[in-house]
Amino acid sequence: SPAAALPGAATPLAVLHDVFGYESFRGNQAAIIDQVVGGGDALVLMPTGGGKSLCYQVPALVRDGVGIVVSPLIALMQDQVDALEAVGVRAAFLNSTQDPDQRRAVEAAFRSGELDMLYLAPERLKLESTKQLLDQGTISLFAIDEAHCVAQWGHDFRPDYLELSVLHERWPSIPRIALTATATEVTHREISARLGLDDAAHFVADFDRPNIQYRIEAKDSPMQQVLRLIQTEHAGDAGIVYCLSRNSVEKTAQFLVDRGIAALPYHAGLDAGTRQRNQSRFLREDGIVMVATVAFGMGIDKPDVRFVAHLDLPKSVEGYYQETGRAGRDGLPATAWLAYGLQDVMQQRRMIDQSEGDAAHRRKLTAHLDAMLALCETVECRRVQLLGYFGQASTACGNCDTCLTPPTSVDGTVPAQKLLSTVVRLKRERNQQFGAGHLVDILLGKSTPRMQQNGHEALSTFGIGKDLSDVEWRGVVRQLIAQGLLAVSPDGFGTLMLTDDGAAVLSGTRPVRLRREAPRAPRSSSRSRG
Ligand code: ADP
Ligand code: ZN
Repeated sequence: SPAAALPGAATPLAVLHDVFGYESFRGNQAAIIDQVVGGGDALVLMPTGGGKSLCYQVPALVRDGVGIVVSPLIALMQDQVDALEAVGVRAAFLNSTQDPDQRRAVEAAFRSGELDMLYLAPERLKLESTKQLLDQGTISLFAIDEAHCVAQWGHDFRPDYLELSVLHERWPSIPRIALTATATEVTHREISARLGLDDAAHFVADFDRPNIQYRIEAKDSPMQQVLRLIQTEHAGDAGIVYCLSRNSVEKTAQFLVDRGIAALPYHAGLDAGTRQRNQSRFLREDGIVMVATVAFGMGIDKPDVRFVAHLDLPKSVEGYYQETGRAGRDGLPATAWLAYGLQDVMQQRRMIDQSEGDAAHRRKLTAHLDAMLALCETVECRRVQLLGYFGQASTACGNCDTCLTPPTSVDGTVPAQKLLSTVVRLKRERNQQFGAGHLVDILLGKSTPRMQQNGHEALSTFGIGKDLSDVEWRGVVRQLIAQGLLAVSPDGFGTLMLTDDGAAVLSGTRPVRLRREAPRAPRSSSRSRG
């Protein structure tokens, strides 16, 4: 095999050529590899598709011993091992899907130095038997993939990752390389602290994905909207449609299939066989649309995904960035499209209120959601906002919806006051829960049965909002929640409450700017580019 046949002191470049068949290193791959080959630790922040794998695969082949790769992506280990074996690298994995015989064979191969790389699920490192096994072989390096999973502040925390501090304590002389595609400054610091990477060199790649066109629009009928996106801009293209629930995955996939689109569902409720089959069809066939929960996509390497659509609001900017980052890995134009509405905001606030965990945990979830809402409601360039979240300064991109069709922001103080004063008036009524729908009905002066039963036609705000439509009022509610002027009560009924900032608006000491929705999403201009 080529890897086994490499001369003792192969250089990184020789390994790149002879094993992987690539011409040259990309971005800061060469510097990262030099650091690890030299025995130093590295913390690598590189966007999805940036080429993280080679950063540990090449050093693992250059250095003596077996490279240990810790990865949470159990479902992908077989694929990763197959891909390495196909180029002659001796690779194997240990995880819970194997039977004892399979595990014993891998362990024996590790001990006798017959492996170049060994993939491990993080929970295996809790086992003393795994630690003892590792003591019995020669280790070239530890690679910690998806390293943001160690950060409790991050969006994808996995308790098993905390165990990885053992690597440093038990094998202090072995270089470690931690890699992630999602890291804000705060997550970055937490990874560093938890993994004891104080002496690690930090490598932060450019997070911009200029070929991705970011678009966020108001949600009215999401399935129709995504159908229109596919039919008008992405007919026959491969894409991913993310939904929050398994149920909406099923419904959306069926809706698209009924309209002649090659869509497949993917969520954790499907049996393993169906998931595997749908995933491999998506990877191997052209033009499949995968309708999925966020359970789908981590570690998926399909270069020609032309669009990623979100039918529900992601819970964090990090998640959004990671999911949209699966589009356009080949560098050709791609679309990241998101529909979001009032219901999303209400639902997510409610989920946070009802979530398990302490106040600090809820504060974290709220901060993640607020950052996501700020991205949705911005009147500035989406990319500037997105990259800014990752600590990267940039200028207006010309390839996002707000650049292509600049939204106007209007003085929304008066509509905000009308709405907030209605909220205040309803609050005086005990034992009654009124959600956004009823509020809007009051402003529009609708004589519904509920209105009559509660005597709300007598409210001084009844009918004072006829200058805006139902949809516009719901947009105002959504934006006031997003701006923290209104809060959703944790009562489970979606009752709206005034915040302190909202009270300042009502008393006239604080103005409100509102984004006026573009009448229609721009047609893709990126088609003519590249
Ligand atoms: P990440 O893990 O950062 O998402 P991967 O390691 O899967 O990215 O790499 C993404 C794609 O880019 C893969 O198909 C990989 O083979 C390719 N790639 C990475 N580095 C290079 C390189 N130096 N030259 C050519 N192709 C590369
Ligand atoms: Zn822009």
